[in-house]
Formats: sequence, structure tokens, C-alpha cells
Amino acid sequence: MTDSVIHKDQAQLLAEKIAQDKVTTPETLPSIPDLATLDAQHADADAETFLRAMIDEFDGRIALVSSFGAESAVLLDLVARVKKDLPVIFLETGMHFAQTLTYRNKLIKQLGLTNVQSVTPDPADLAEHDADESLWQWDTDQCCHIRKVLPLQKALSGYDAWINGRKQMHGGLRVRLPRLELSGGHIKVNPLAWWTRDDVEAAFESSGLPRHPLVEQGYPSIGCWPCTQPVDSDDDVRGGRWNGQDKTECGIHVTMLRSQA
Ligand code: SF4
Repeated sequence: MTDSVIHKDQAQLLAEKIAQDKVTTPETLPSIPDLATLDAQHADADAETFLRAMIDEFDGRIALVSSFGAESAVLLDLVARVKKDLPVIFLETGMHFAQTLTYRNKLIKQLGLTNVQSVTPDPADLAEHDADESLWQWDTDQCCHIRKVLPLQKALSGYDAWINGRKQMHGGLRVRLPRLELSGGHIKVNPLAWWTRDDVEAAFESSGLPRHPLVEQGYPSIGCWPCTQPVDSDDDVRGGRWNGQDKTECGIHVTMLRSQA
């Protein structure tokens, strides 16, 4: 598959984003010029080639974070082709649809993934802030913070880099997403940043990947059940997430960044 190229100069975009985010570089990570160079070295690589290169580059210090949502299978499939025992972190918020958990188990088995780790919130945080599981009704940022952001920070403490499936075509804050970012003390690897919806559909078809069962019920993006709605038109892929709120991201892609600003 040839990735849809809607980028001009990824090294330049990366440098701009780093400057905007005012991110500092921990000594253990590549310097900003090194990261920009690394990005530029692989500018013409397709997603699988790029993914393989980054797994080699950060050997033993990189994990995939997956929601096992509507599009997750395509990246999980690529990872399975490269390294079936790559650590895959699943944020088990306690608020997933039952269909997501069933789908997760189905994909693990079909793809032969051997190192999927479910990460749960700290019981003390839940007891203190969300004992009756109603926090999402009045403070979604705080709910995401204790159910997603803090558990992920803890889970990633032993890694330098993590892979995720965000794409520019999701819109919002993602429209200029590069394939490499420096954020929150980690390198974020976004192999599918340039993929279009047609690329995703083609990957599902060519690899015979199963669909999340909620997709056919009108959910183009799937997260926790309280904060995910079906949509009338899937033109806005993430339109059903936190419907009616300004919130467009769960926090794992913004809060960790702000903590370094
Ligand atoms: S997506 Fe909703 S239910 Fe899930 S952690 Fe965030 S606020 Fe809570």
C-alpha cells in the first residue's frame, strides 16, 4: 500500500511543532535535530517500513498504545507483522463497551499478539474521586485524567517511545500531525499519520481484518461508553466523542504535553 502523501516537509513540521509546544528534551532521548533528522530519513517510507524502522531504532524501549477501537486493527496488524511480542498497552478504564473487550480478545487471537497489557486506574484515585463512577457526568477532564492519563504515564515510565494510531484525517488538533513527535518526555510515533479513510478501508479489506461490531451501528470512533455516541454522518470521524462538549481529546495526547510546557 502507498500512503497518501499530504505532507511537504515533515522535518520542518516537526521542528515547528516542537517550537510551538515548548517541549524540553530529556537527556536520554534524541535531541530535537536528531529527531528531525530521523523523521526526514524515513520521509518516503510507507507505514509498515516506517514502523519497522522505529521499532528497531528504539529496540526494547517502545510500546504500542491501542484502544482496540474502530480503526485500531490496521495498526495492530502492522505491529503483528513486525513484532508480535511488542508490548501493547490497553487502557482498561472500566468504562469500555462490552463489545470492545470482546473485539480486543478476538484481535489478539487472530493477529497472534503475545504481549497485550491491560492497564487499570489506581484504586485509590477511583475511591477518592469517582467512587460511584459518575465523574464522567460532571468533569470529563478529571475522569480522563484518573482513568487514562495517570495510568498511561505510569505504564510508559519504562519506555522512551510509544506508537499510536492517530491520523491527520481525524481533523481537529490532528490536522498537522507529524509521524514523530516529542511530547511529555516521550517520543510519539504515528505511523498512520498520513493515512486517509480509503487507506484504512483498503487495509481492512486486504488483510481480512474483523470490524469492531459497533462500527455498523454508526460509531466511526469508539472510546468509553459514556462518552461515545453514534453519528448520522461519518464525515466527522470523531464527531461522536464527548458529543456536545468542546473536548475533542481524552487527555493522553494533550495533558502529558502540557506537563512539559
Ligand atoms: S472517555 Fe469518558 S468515561 Fe472514559 S475516562 Fe474519559 S471522561 Fe471517563
